[in-house]
Amino acid sequence: MKIKNLAKAPLWAAVCSVSLLYGCCDHSKMVENNQESLPTIERVQSVSLLEEYAVVRAQQVSNVSYKLSVVLDDKKTDFSGVSEITFDLMKNNTNDLTIDFNRGEVESVMVNGEEVEFRYGNFFITINKALLSAGKNKVTVHYSRAYATDGSGLHRFVDPENSEVYLYTDFEPYDANKLFPHFDQPDLKATYTLDVKAPKQWKVITSTRESNIEEVDGANHWTFPTSDKFSSYVFSLHAGDYVVWEDKHEDEHEDIPLRLFVRTSLSEYITTEDWFTPTKQSFKFFNEYFGVKYPFKKYDQIIAPDFNSGAMENVAAVTFSERFVARGEKSTEQKMDLAMVIAHEMAHMWFGDLVTMRWWNGLWLNESFATYMAYLALDKGSDFENTWDVFYSGTKQWAYETDDSVNTHAIELPVASTGEAMANFDGITYGKGASVLKQLPYYLGEENFRIGVSNYLKKFSYKNTELSDFMDELGKAANKDLSQWTQDWLYQAGLNSIAVDYQCDGEKISSLTINQTAPEGYPTLREQRVQLGLYSYNGSQMSLTKAIPVLYKGESTQIKEAVGQACPDLVYPNEGDWGYVKVILDEKSQQSVKQHINNIESKTMRLMLWQSLSDSVDDGILSADTFANFALVNLHKEQDYNVAKKMVDSLINAMRYLDTSTHLGQTDYSALYREVEYLLWHLAKSAEPKSDLQKLWYIEYSYFAKSVDHLSNLEKVLNGDITLDGLTIDQDKRWRIVARLNRFEFGDYKALLDAESANDTSDKGSKYAIYSEVLRPVAEVKAKWFKEVVENPNNLKLATLRFIMFGLFPAEQTELEKPYKARIVEHIAKLNEKGDLALLGNFTGRMLPAHCTPQSEQSLAKLVETYADMKPQAVKAIKKAHETSQRCVKVLDLL
Ligand SMILES: [Zn+2]
Repeated sequence: MKIKNLAKAPLWAAVCSVSLLYGCCDHSKMVENNQESLPTIERVQSVSLLEEYAVVRAQQVSNVSYKLSVVLDDKKTDFSGVSEITFDLMKNNTNDLTIDFNRGEVESVMVNGEEVEFRYGNFFITINKALLSAGKNKVTVHYSRAYATDGSGLHRFVDPENSEVYLYTDFEPYDANKLFPHFDQPDLKATYTLDVKAPKQWKVITSTRESNIEEVDGANHWTFPTSDKFSSYVFSLHAGDYVVWEDKHEDEHEDIPLRLFVRTSLSEYITTEDWFTPTKQSFKFFNEYFGVKYPFKKYDQIIAPDFNSGAMENVAAVTFSERFVARGEKSTEQKMDLAMVIAHEMAHMWFGDLVTMRWWNGLWLNESFATYMAYLALDKGSDFENTWDVFYSGTKQWAYETDDSVNTHAIELPVASTGEAMANFDGITYGKGASVLKQLPYYLGEENFRIGVSNYLKKFSYKNTELSDFMDELGKAANKDLSQWTQDWLYQAGLNSIAVDYQCDGEKISSLTINQTAPEGYPTLREQRVQLGLYSYNGSQMSLTKAIPVLYKGESTQIKEAVGQACPDLVYPNEGDWGYVKVILDEKSQQSVKQHINNIESKTMRLMLWQSLSDSVDDGILSADTFANFALVNLHKEQDYNVAKKMVDSLINAMRYLDTSTHLGQTDYSALYREVEYLLWHLAKSAEPKSDLQKLWYIEYSYFAKSVDHLSNLEKVLNGDITLDGLTIDQDKRWRIVARLNRFEFGDYKALLDAESANDTSDKGSKYAIYSEVLRPVAEVKAKWFKEVVENPNNLKLATLRFIMFGLFPAEQTELEKPYKARIVEHIAKLNEKGDLALLGNFTGRMLPAHCTPQSEQSLAKLVETYADMKPQAVKAIKKAHETSQRCVKVLDLL
């Protein structure tokens, strides 16, 4: 799966994880011992599957295959099916058999052809052990179930524009049992033989291409050949009157038929080249890099409505969020983002689908690997430039932020249940994991790393693995013992810092040491290979004079290779971003940065230095107004897109603190705010027409403007009274303006919203319309939508609820929020009780007030204690809110 996490995409940001402190269990040994008797284990009804139980079941049953018949139509809100499960039961079985099936209706259960009694309690079916025999068994379940409306399981979407119905599945980690009764755990890999009855105009998509379509009773009956063996969370069934485009990938390795699907009303916005080109480039790269042919014969990509995350790696039938369909011209950044997600999901076909983690503690490796591979594929096999700068700005900062927060945890963690697996989708799972994988090729050698990966994929094809299987193959390829590395980097949490201490004798360096420190509570010091960058200023440019690869470890490492080099003006001990570490600049380097940041030749270096300054603001070391003024005078000088984006995002981040200070009646920064508004508007107007920078400046402005003059500019842009040469104000940009005008009740905001709603009746339009209304600073509006969220969440899709929750209480509407604070806190407890994990995480993360005052900080600190035993989704979000409040107070103290 690919979760999108960028500061600019808060609507989709996930709320996350927990740290657990107990040891790791190795059940690979137990599994081999298949025929011994097992402990008797009683399974408790629960929405999650416990690892403890899954371990037992993986020994109880083996050689699983499913024959699945499903009946779909475009009218009803439920579907029916027959699941025929064939498996071998162990000898000396002492346990009843359970089959996972979430909240459906079970009509009958047959065991080896005989109808039998069974128990069913909403989450699994239990069959008495006496009804089964050792060796081969066949269990047949006739069932029905409601379609999902929260994007997990078999989701049903009705297009508001044309009433067409679209279905797709999304299963990770434990939702495949919302489609059909089966053993829903990754290490019970199985084959799937599917047939589907569906309305005649529909297309039906799964992991294999259909072998036959036949008309039966006015519907079409689709049959599919038996699939390869894989885990059920990557099985899929998508259906509907999707529009399809076809293409083909051919290289010296194989021919792979490609298809792309989208619902009809979005088809006009698809540029197929944006999809098929990166798909083909990624296939070419991975086939060569992995040295293993693509295993699944065809490759379909389906753009799915209401999709919860970025994309999902279903075997040969990958789903993508409609977020990747822009209803206007795409920027290079957007195209690259899509290409990167395409490559990420494709990497999973090998790493995840062909070779799969045994249990969800391995999810981090699955995700981190795909994330790292996606960037590597783009860097080596596409036309996009600056791939690693984008990695640095996005993935890596996400990792640093999470690792430097109260919610940090070790990369490799025990995961007691499938419920916790979800809670661990975070900046550590994806970001830190990918960042430390990126280090490894520097540490082991690039080709050694590649050979290790390739050997791993060959050795474990169609099987399940533990972390040690992967590390062993890498270690063997590089002839290096990785046990200490694994222990330090994967089993210990925390972000180290390094600082350089050096002396010069005349014009030359006489000694240079890298000093390493660890944060409080996470004392591990680590070994890694980085580059030491030495920079000198020649009167007009600050240039790299020497990059020295070095291996540092422990508290202090003397770098002999630096001795004798020219005495530098700037030293950066993570040149080229090889390492995963926070850099603290020495005094002289700090001065050089202040004076010459725009004269530094390397854009990657400028990017890292701006990041470092921005971090200092969040850490309460550099005052937000000093930073804002510094960024303000430098912004227009920067021509590199990634650096400019980092600068403007950091500037806006600093302005948020300053604006809070203004609202709290501390120091008034309104004049500075207006200066930034003016600058962004000026940059947007004067940028080269159609350039990426023009798009960037305009978008930032449209999110930032709030003064009368600037809201008026936006209104005129919407009405067409102002145009920016080369910039198209497409439907999505129009909605952003309408939302902004409603948030500040500017101009004819109500009429503009009505007009826009009438003009855009699409699903996205209807979500934006609700969002724009929710934003209004009006007590009745808040009351109406708050009620919807807490009393009638089932009336709306989770995707729509997210828009509402995100819009209810923007920063400047704290007075309107006040009456809801207690109710929000109470409602978190209710949701926790109910166990709707997705809504719980979203609600807590979006709705819990976190203000920039000591009072707010203290009340959140109390809540962290009171709610300490809640589900991880809630606990993490509360801790995060507390930390946000705490940091903000510290930042404001510095003003
Ligand atoms: Zn993924």
